[in-house]
Amino acid sequence: MQILEKAPAKINLSLDALHKRADGFHEVEMVMTTVDLADRIELTLLSDDEIKVESESRFVPNDERNLAYRAAQLLKDRFRVTQGVKIFIEKNIPVAAGLAGGSSDAAAVLRGVNRMWGLGLSMDELAELGSEIGSDVSFCVYGGTALATGRGEKIQHLPAPPPCWVVLSKPTLGVSTQSVYKNLDLSAAQHPNTEAMVEALKKGDYYGICKNVGNTLEGVTLQMHEEVGQIKEQMKQAGADAVLMSGSGPTVFSLVEHDARAQRIYNSLKGFCTEVFMVRMLGYREPLDK
Ligand code: ATP
Repeated sequence: MQILEKAPAKINLSLDALHKRADGFHEVEMVMTTVDLADRIELTLLSDDEIKVESESRFVPNDERNLAYRAAQLLKDRFRVTQGVKIFIEKNIPVAAGLAGGSSDAAAVLRGVNRMWGLGLSMDELAELGSEIGSDVSFCVYGGTALATGRGEKIQHLPAPPPCWVVLSKPTLGVSTQSVYKNLDLSAAQHPNTEAMVEALKKGDYYGICKNVGNTLEGVTLQMHEEVGQIKEQMKQAGADAVLMSGSGPTVFSLVEHDARAQRIYNSLKGFCTEVFMVRMLGYREPLDK
């Protein structure tokens, strides 16, 4: 038995960190949406009691450090499953990029093994279990567009943004989310207007969305890596409607309505950066499994 799952990347239309909590995590308000850049997850039922991970990417661990492995392990332990699974990850999302690639892989495995092992769990139950693996996993279980609060695990669904192009560019450096939060000075940081972003999405107001993109973590990563600022500047000059760093970075994305302008931004970065993508917004909740 084989199951295919699509694991799309997310971008943060806004990300605010409010305060540091007693458990060490920051209380956040994030508006996230999925884009049409996805890993492909192939699950094969194993009759013996084993979890195997395979990937052609040298950046992806193939043992219990892999979030996809941990997702399968979590359901296996919790529900005393005696069957196993082989997880093949076709990695298309850049790694350690601020695009939640690992979290989306884990979410895809939760959805897939739920069906494969016949566990009958609801999406809400999977999202709650996913929060034990990582803060972004709950959102990734559903995909679409949402406001995520708490440490990221409390999800309120929102309407999809109006269709547009998303040009993504990742400089050749990885960023550790932990180190960015460690260097965050909340009193000096810029805070986006989350409420205005949510309102713009509810109204389907594309330019309202563009006006209100913002990321509290951007200043920290910009200070550590000047390439991020250079990409932002290049995208702005090439005519993007909005430009922002996603998550803790270093990927920068632009939102663009007009086809020719999106192509110009893509062309201007291709060659300058090795990982550049021009994709469509995918902010609605589509069935992610086949
Ligand atoms: P986020 O946006 O949630 O902070 P990210 O895009 O910055 O995530 P990931 O691509 O998920 O980061 O990878 C972060 C680290 O997690 C990598 O260094 C990698 O070694 C490890 N990792 C574990 N599982 C995976 C996976 N399935 N895919 C990619 N990286 C993984």
